[in-house]
Amino acid sequence: MMSEACYRVSAMNATRDHANHLLQGIAGPGAQLRDDQWAAIDALVNQRRRMLVVQRTGWGKSAVYFIAAKLLREAGHGPSLIVSPLLALMRNQVAAAARAGIRAATINSANATEWDAIQAGIGSLDLLLISPERLNSPGFRAEVLPQLAGGIGMLVVDEAHCISDWGHDFRPDYRRIALLIRDLPATTPVLATTATANDRVVADVVAQLGADTGSIRGGLDRESLALNVVQLPDPTRRAAWIAQYLSTVEGSGIIYCLTVSEAHDLAEALDTAGWNVAAYTGRTEAEERERLEQALIANELKALVATSALGMGFDKPDLGFVIHLGAPSSPVSYYQQIGRAGRGTDHAEVVLLPGPEDARIWEYFASVSMPPEQTVRQLLAALDTSEPVSTQRLENVVDLSRTRIDQALKVLDVDGAVERVRGGWLSTGATWEYDEERYAGLANAREREQNLMLDYEATDQCRMIFLRRELDDPTVAEGEVCGRCDNCTGNHLPVEVDAALAERMDAQLKAPGIPLPQRKQWPTGSARKGKIPGVLPGKALGRLNDVARGPALTALLRDSAYRPAADWRQDQWLRRFVEVLAGWDWAQRPVSVVALGSPDPARSAMVEATAAALAEVGRMQFAGAVAAGPQEIQARNSAFRVNALDRYFDYSGVDATTQGPILLVTDVVDSGWTVTVAAADLAQRFGTEVLPLAFASAS
Ligand SMILES: [Zn+2]
Repeated sequence: MMSEACYRVSAMNATRDHANHLLQGIAGPGAQLRDDQWAAIDALVNQRRRMLVVQRTGWGKSAVYFIAAKLLREAGHGPSLIVSPLLALMRNQVAAAARAGIRAATINSANATEWDAIQAGIGSLDLLLISPERLNSPGFRAEVLPQLAGGIGMLVVDEAHCISDWGHDFRPDYRRIALLIRDLPATTPVLATTATANDRVVADVVAQLGADTGSIRGGLDRESLALNVVQLPDPTRRAAWIAQYLSTVEGSGIIYCLTVSEAHDLAEALDTAGWNVAAYTGRTEAEERERLEQALIANELKALVATSALGMGFDKPDLGFVIHLGAPSSPVSYYQQIGRAGRGTDHAEVVLLPGPEDARIWEYFASVSMPPEQTVRQLLAALDTSEPVSTQRLENVVDLSRTRIDQALKVLDVDGAVERVRGGWLSTGATWEYDEERYAGLANAREREQNLMLDYEATDQCRMIFLRRELDDPTVAEGEVCGRCDNCTGNHLPVEVDAALAERMDAQLKAPGIPLPQRKQWPTGSARKGKIPGVLPGKALGRLNDVARGPALTALLRDSAYRPAADWRQDQWLRRFVEVLAGWDWAQRPVSVVALGSPDPARSAMVEATAAALAEVGRMQFAGAVAAGPQEIQARNSAFRVNALDRYFDYSGVDATTQGPILLVTDVVDSGWTVTVAAADLAQRFGTEVLPLAFASAS
């Protein structure tokens, strides 16, 4: 005999016809759900299951969760909650859903003024979209979630690979989702979606969703992409190769660089070579990003020269090419970035130009992920008070940058060791274990992926199959090849570069002179207070991580063996300094030169000899050297560093007798505090202004 409850469920079963009807409201007449889309909806709505859907972008996952949310609502369940980092991109879909009678609203940082109205009307919604960061806001957790909790019709986790430690862009905010899932009734359907996840990530996400989670996983082949690798050892030659290649490739595209400064330098060099391109990085303002994305979509730009900041969700179906100057650190990230090309076209070109510097940059990014145990313990001790502590105040207590403090706090927050309250952070008093095994495991995984990327560069087998295998694509057939990549066709892109073009690009990328960041205020919490008087903007020959100028500067500073030649015209470094000085638009020309010493005697001697030579070339007074303390200052955080630098320098060897600005020559400027402290002291001592001049910037 069939039980009553069972009968009721089957009586309310949503049909495929009805789901298709809803889809037609969103996507237009004639639209039909594909079998795999219907399978997902059926599992969620009729079987109330937990599902992981791994499907490439463009598969139509938003239609699946809009329709499932509506059907659940019609069956009398509560509104669905969708957690997605791509809310801005969903504006169009939300509008389309509204036309089909699906009521959706979003709560995100951009519409704070509407939150009260949305929260008041939450009961009448079909679905609420939020960003993962919202789950970590105390207000949202205290006021909004309780209205939904228990009554959530379905939970959707978009970009679900972020839930996994093992995902290539794990986000601490996502760990909160795992806690939310744990507290949901077993009958609440959960849908996790992602376009890229290998077996390890799939297993991890499934473990967090529950053991009987079903999965729907599609193949990862992209029939439009032609993959190529071009090996050129010289970095400026790679830039020139790109300038030349742009004239042979159709359409508009993206050129990815690994660092912000590289993206800006390459954009500038390509612009000079006559290409309509622009840089797009983490430093680009939100409004400007929007404008640049639109310009690329409208083909007004040949390319955006971007870092990974041009990331998840950027959608231009006819993107003609993706070039990488430098390889990302894992096949998953690489696959995701090249996947933006050729979504709506038959053919798109994909080129990777790897370099020997890539590994160093991967190491740097890996090193900033989680601070060492001792530092985290300091942070916890600082929060063990009765009053909330702000992140700004923590900066004065713990020697970590703001970004890394934020990162550590988020991890501690989801681990339950600290909590965010109004006015800052507090320790919860719960014991916290530094999970050494987990961090070591992550480091191993990272190293394995970096090696796989090197294998991809070197392979003579089909490149698309290589990537699909590394991403555990279940549909790869034995002996299958793509027939489009350079290894399949045997047509390897030519490595020759027009000599005149190469020379021009080389000269531009190596042209000396970059501005140093200027410090204007002493950091909060340091012994020095307020505005910094007398220190003018400075310059450096180049950045240590520049593609073009970097290697020579790095070698020079490593040896510290450089001493200026007697005739400056015969000396490449003096010529570069003279070029920088000649192009400096100062209000008043410096009249004397001072060298800034360091704890390393060889380095101090190099800087002093250079300062003296520059004084002679520029007919300025060489006014001696500032002597540094015997130890390198280790503090990285601003307030710590400024305090450690107080009384660190000895100015008795400086005698600037000519009245006027001082040029202060130094080796490397990183945070800028060392040179700023010395410059401010000199400015005060001699009642003048000081202009810093460095060999290199390390930022
Ligand atoms: Zn192939």
